[in-house]
Amino acid sequence: MAWERLKFEQGPIRPPSEAGSLLIRLTRNCPWNRCLFCPIYKNEKFSRRSVDEIKSDISAMAEAAKQIRLISDGDSSPGVISRQAVATIQTEYPEMLQIAYWLYGGGKNVFLQDGDSLLLPLHDLLDILSFLKEQFPSIDRITTYARSKTLLRFSQSEMNLLRDQGLSRIHVGLESGCDKVLEFMKKGVTGEQHTKAGLLVKAAGLSLSFYVILGLGGQSLWREHALDTANVINRVNPDFIRMRTLAIHPVSPLYQSFIDGSFTPLTDDQVIREELLFVESLEGIDSYFISDHILNLLEEVEGQLPADKEKMLGTLKRYLNWPEDKRDIFRLGRRTGNFRQLNDLDHQAFVQPVEEYYRQLQSQNITVDEQVRQLMLRFI
Ligand code: SF4
Repeated sequence: MAWERLKFEQGPIRPPSEAGSLLIRLTRNCPWNRCLFCPIYKNEKFSRRSVDEIKSDISAMAEAAKQIRLISDGDSSPGVISRQAVATIQTEYPEMLQIAYWLYGGGKNVFLQDGDSLLLPLHDLLDILSFLKEQFPSIDRITTYARSKTLLRFSQSEMNLLRDQGLSRIHVGLESGCDKVLEFMKKGVTGEQHTKAGLLVKAAGLSLSFYVILGLGGQSLWREHALDTANVINRVNPDFIRMRTLAIHPVSPLYQSFIDGSFTPLTDDQVIREELLFVESLEGIDSYFISDHILNLLEEVEGQLPADKEKMLGTLKRYLNWPEDKRDIFRLGRRTGNFRQLNDLDHQAFVQPVEEYYRQLQSQNITVDEQVRQLMLRFI
C-alpha cells in the first residue's frame, strides 16, 4: 500500500500524566521564560502558531489516523488498532508512531502544547477546539498548560465557553503560594493571582492540576513556602496536587544563585520535613495528591485527601525516623533507580549494590548530598 507522508509539528514537553495524549502544538516554547529554576525553554524563542498552521497539523494527523486504521483493519477488528499495525508504523513510518500509539490506547485524550497555549486569542482557541473535535470525534479530554496570569485574562463567561467547546483540564505551574518565593524565582505571579486563577478554572467546572515544587524556598524560606502554598491550595481545592522536587540544572539561572550563595537548596531530609509540614497544613480539600515524578524522593506519598492524609504523613515520618545511614542508603538507591518505595529496603538483593556504592563514596570522601545532587540532574 502506498502511503502519503504527512507532516505536522509537535513540541517535546508535556506533563507525565499526558504521556498517552495526542500532542497538538498551538504555541512554541514559553512566553514568560524567566523563572529562575526552569531550564526547559532557555535559549528558545516563543512564537504563536497561526490557526491555519494548527488546523493543517490537525488535518494531517486525522489523515494519518485514517491511514493507520486502514492498515490495521487488515489484521484486526474495524476501528481497533492492532499491535501489528503499530509495529509496522514504527518500522516504516516512525513520524506517525505517536498517532498510532494514541489510537492503540483508545484515541481519547489530547494535550495542547507548549508552555502557555491559552495565550492565543479566545476566538482562535474556540475555532481550534471545534475543528479538533470535528476531526477526531472520539476525543473526550482536552488539556493544556497555562500560566495563572494568562488565565486571569479570561472572564468567567469566556472560561465557560472554553469548557463548552471541549477544554477539560488545565495544568498550572503553581510552584509556590509564597510571594517571597515567587518573587525571588521570578515566577511573575503572586499567591493571590494563583488563587484567583485557580478559582476561575474551578468555577467553570474544568479539572485543575496544580504543580508544586518542594524545596523551592531553599533554606531561608522553606517554612513559608510550605505554609503559604498549602494556604493557596486550601482556598482553591484543585482536583490534583502534583509534586515535583527542585533540582538545580546548570542551564537554569538559579544555578548562578546557587554558586554565589544567594540560594541554598534543601537536602533530601529537609525536603521531606518541608513536605511533612505542607501535607499537615492541607485542610478542607478533596484533591488527589500525586508524587509520581522521578525527582521526588518518596513517590509513594500519594492519595485522596482527606482520607489518605494520615497514611501519607505516616510514610514521611517513617522515613524521617530512620537512622541517618539508612536514609542515605535509601536516597542513593532511589536516585540510582534501585528503589521506588521504602519497603524496597527490606529486599537484600536490591540493597546490596547500593550499600556497595555507599561504601565507595565514603572511601572517596564524597558526601551523599553531593552525589545525590549530581544524580538528580539526569532527571531534569
Ligand atoms: S516554569 Fe513555566 S512559566 Fe516559568 S519559564 Fe518555565 S515554562 Fe515558562
